[in-house]
Amino acid sequence: MTKLIILGSSNAIPDKDHENTHMVIIGKSHTVLIDCVSNPILRLRQAGVDINSITDMILTHFHPDHVSGVPLLLMNMWLMGRRTPLSVYGLHHTLDRMENLMSAYAWDEWPGFFPVAFYRLPAQELTPVLDCKEFHIIASPVRHMIPAIGLRVEFHTSKKSMAYSCDTAPCDEVVRLAGGVDVLIHEAAGDLFGHSSAGQAGEIARQAEAGSLYLIHYPTGRYATGDPVAEARDRYKGQVTLAEDFMKIDF
Ligand SMILES: [Zn+2]
Repeated sequence: MTKLIILGSSNAIPDKDHENTHMVIIGKSHTVLIDCVSNPILRLRQAGVDINSITDMILTHFHPDHVSGVPLLLMNMWLMGRRTPLSVYGLHHTLDRMENLMSAYAWDEWPGFFPVAFYRLPAQELTPVLDCKEFHIIASPVRHMIPAIGLRVEFHTSKKSMAYSCDTAPCDEVVRLAGGVDVLIHEAAGDLFGHSSAGQAGEIARQAEAGSLYLIHYPTGRYATGDPVAEARDRYKGQVTLAEDFMKIDF
């Protein structure tokens, strides 16, 4: 069965039990990493995911708490002798900067590097990202401090669907992207510029008529405040779950 593993659930400041927000979708033919932070090879190993099984990587936006692990992941894959291509998807804003970052590491001088293809997505709602036998992924721009995308995944066999808001203020783009999904994973960093509170995430889940809501990218450790699940439940009557690292959701 296709599944999603939450690899990190914290906002930008992680604690010992909560890494920065990122996740992975694992199918038979495609394994898709959504953002890449910290020390990816260790995180994936802890989650029981073979680093070489990763076929695709979607980068939601160019903030360090979402993409800082990319250079290390690519270098480790290369050192482990990877030959198979890796596809990387993101907005122009994101991928231009990622290629510049890799240039700063002079990766073009690393001999025998495996093929990495960058696919630049237009900043348009419901843009197709990736289609394979098991699932179909689309993206929409959301409202963050810098250009960012949210994602929707349709799973063909189970006919289930999920959406991930990415970092965003509450917005109609996410309501449209997540319309009728079984699972909405929405950020709950707080009522801050370019972010959403847990209550606002609940409101978006209500408007999108999502089947269930997972709160992610929330303040952890000594920065944790209030009861995010209760705050979301005030505005949304479906099931609300606080996403935790290594949580698995079957699709
Ligand atoms: Zn961000």
